[in-house]
Amino acid sequence: MNAPFPLPERRPIRELPDELISQIAAGEVVERPASVVRELVDNALDAGARQITVRLQAGGIRLISVEDDGGGILRSELPTALKRHATSKIASLHDLESVDTMGFRGEALAAICSIAEVSVLTRTDDPSDAHGWLLDGRSGELQPTARSRGTTVEVRELFFATPARRKFLKSENTELAHCIEAVRRHALARPEVGFAIWHDGKLVAQWRSVSPDLADGEHLLDALRRRLADVLGDDFISQAVAVNWPVDDIPGEAATTGGHQRLRVWGFAGVPDAARSRADWQFAYVNGRFVRDKVITHAARSAYEDVLHGHRQPVYALYVGIDPTRVDVNVHPTKIEVRFRDSREVHQAIRHAVENALSAPRASSALAAPLSTGAVTAPFTDTTSVNVSRGPIAAGMPAPMHQQPLPWRQRETEIGHRVSDLGAIWSPPAARTDQATAPERPDAPRTPLATPPAPTLPNGEWPLGRAVAQLHGVYILAENATGLVVVDMHAAHERIVYERLKQQLDAHAVSTQSLLIPATFAATPEEVATAESCTEALATLGLEIVPFSPRTLAVRTVPSTLSGGDPVALARSVLAELAQHEASTVAQRARNELLATMACHGAVRANRRLTIDEMNALLRQMEVTERSDQCNHGRPTWRQLGMKDLDALFLRGR
Ligand code: ADP
Ligand code: MG
Repeated sequence: MNAPFPLPERRPIRELPDELISQIAAGEVVERPASVVRELVDNALDAGARQITVRLQAGGIRLISVEDDGGGILRSELPTALKRHATSKIASLHDLESVDTMGFRGEALAAICSIAEVSVLTRTDDPSDAHGWLLDGRSGELQPTARSRGTTVEVRELFFATPARRKFLKSENTELAHCIEAVRRHALARPEVGFAIWHDGKLVAQWRSVSPDLADGEHLLDALRRRLADVLGDDFISQAVAVNWPVDDIPGEAATTGGHQRLRVWGFAGVPDAARSRADWQFAYVNGRFVRDKVITHAARSAYEDVLHGHRQPVYALYVGIDPTRVDVNVHPTKIEVRFRDSREVHQAIRHAVENALSAPRASSALAAPLSTGAVTAPFTDTTSVNVSRGPIAAGMPAPMHQQPLPWRQRETEIGHRVSDLGAIWSPPAARTDQATAPERPDAPRTPLATPPAPTLPNGEWPLGRAVAQLHGVYILAENATGLVVVDMHAAHERIVYERLKQQLDAHAVSTQSLLIPATFAATPEEVATAESCTEALATLGLEIVPFSPRTLAVRTVPSTLSGGDPVALARSVLAELAQHEASTVAQRARNELLATMACHGAVRANRRLTIDEMNALLRQMEVTERSDQCNHGRPTWRQLGMKDLDALFLRGR
C-alpha cells in the first residue's frame, strides 16, 4: 500500500479570458520595441505603402508610431482589425499555403493592444470614407478625423500592463538600435519603398525610394545596388559582386510552379576581401521576408570556402525567390525561420549563385565601370546622391563586378588559346632544356618569350592594362584606362596555377610532363611508404614518385602547369599532405588544400625578374581566370589606383 502523499490543490478548468490569451500570445510576438516596429512595418508593406515613417520616443518604449500611405482600413472593419485571429490576408488553409504577404496570422495588432496603448488612424480611397477615422484600442471609441489615405498606428507605453516584461528591456539606445535594425531589414528588401526613422524628434535614418520601374525585373539589381549603398554604405557595394541565378533570368521575377524556374537567387555578395570577423552583415531573404536560416547561411559560406580561409565571415544580401508552396513560413511566431520543402535544392542554388558571382574575374569590370569616375553605381534616375568620394586608399578597391555579358568575356576563348601555359613562361629556358621532354600539346610554345603576344591594342582595351614595370621583384605595375594597376605577382600567379590545376583535376585531365632526368632526393621512411601506398592518388595529381632505393625517391613526372618549379620541394610537400589524409578518400576540402600547396610551389617566386611580355602574359591570364581577384588565402591580387586617386595624392586639381 502506498502511503498517502499530498496532492496539489484541485483547481477548476476554465477558458482563459481573451485579454489574457492575447497577453500570452504577445509574449511570443513582442519581445521588445523592435518587434512592434517589425510587425507594423510588415502591415504597412502589406497595405502597399510607398513611404513609411517610423517615429520613436525613448527607444520605442514610450512611443512607436508607424505611418504609411498604403490602402488604409475601412471604417467598418477597423474594430475587427484589432481582434485576435482577424486578418484580411488569408481566408482558408489553401491561402496559407501560397501566402505572399508579410503577415497572415492576424495576431500582431491584438497582441500589441494587450500590452500597450494603441490607437489607429486610417483612411481608405473608398467613396464611403469621406474622411479618416481614429480608433482608440482601449475604449474601442471611433472618431472621425482628417488625414490622407493610409494608416498610422501609434503604440504607447509598451509593457505598461506587464511590468515584468518591461524590466527585461535594455537601455533606450540599445532598444533604438534594434528598432533601426528592424527597419533596415525591411529596407534592404524593398528599394521601391522610402523609409524614414525619427527618434525623439530627430531624423536618425532615411532611405529614399527608388522609382518603382527601376525596382523591377531587369533593373532590380540596379535598384538594390542603390538601396544597399544607401543602407549599408558605399563600401559595401563597391566591394560586392552582383549575384543572379540562373544567370540568364530576370532577377526577382515571380517564381512559377511546374517549370524549372521555381527557384531564383539574386543580390550582392561581398568580395572575400570585404569579409568581417562577425556575421553581422549577412542578410538573407526568402520571398521578400528577412530570415535566419541555417541552410542559406551554410550554402553562402560554402561558396566562399575556396577564397576565404579561417573564421572570416562573408558579407552579403541575398534574395531567394521560391514558389510559396515549396516553403513553409508558418513555423515560427515571428516568421524569422522558414522550412524548405527541399532544402538541398535551395542550398545548391545559393551556393552556385554566389560561387558563380565570385568566380567571374572582376578585372573585366574595369571596362564596364571606370572606378575613378564614380561610375561604380548604376545610372540612377532619381536625385538621391550616392556618395562616391573616397580616400585614395579606399578608392583602390576593385570595382564591382557587373553581371551583364561584357565585351571582355567574348574574347576569353581567343585569349585562352593565345596565351599558353604559364608554367612554360616561368620555367627558365635552361631548366627546360635539360629537364623536359616534349610537352603534351604540340602547339604549346617552347620558348617562354614567344608565348604572350604583347598587346598592341590601346591601353584601354585590356582591363588590367599594359605592364610598364616590375617593382622590387614583387609587384607588377600596369597602365589601364583608369590609371595605375598594381599586381602582387606571386599571389596572382599562384591563383592562376591553382585554378588551372583544379580545372584539370575536375576534368580528370591533369596534363603532365615527364622529367628527362628524374629528380632524386633522400627521403624519410614515411615519405617512401606514402609514395608507395598513394601511387594512384599521386597519378591523379599528375605526379609520379617512385622509390629509387630504400632511402631515395625519384620524381619522374610533374603536372605541366608546375613544370617550372622545384620538383623535389613539390614532391615533399605533397607527400607530407597525403600522409595526413587517407589517400583514397581525399575529401574535396583536403584536395583543394593540396592543390593550393602545389600551386604555391608552381607559382613564380618573388624576386624573379620578369620581362614585360611575361608580365603582360600574367595580366591576360588573370583577366580570364576565375577568382583571380583573390589569392588562395583570400587576399587581393591586384588593386586599382585611378587617375583621380593619383591626382589626390599630389593635391592636383583637374
Ligand atoms: P495580419 O497582418 O497577420 O493580418 P495584424 O494583426 O497585423 O494581422 O493586422 C490585422 C489586419 O489589419 C490586417 O490583416 C490588415 O487587414 C489590417 N491592417 C493592419 N495594419 C494595416 C495598415 N497599416 N494598413 C492597412 N491595413 C492594415
Ligand atoms: Mg501583421
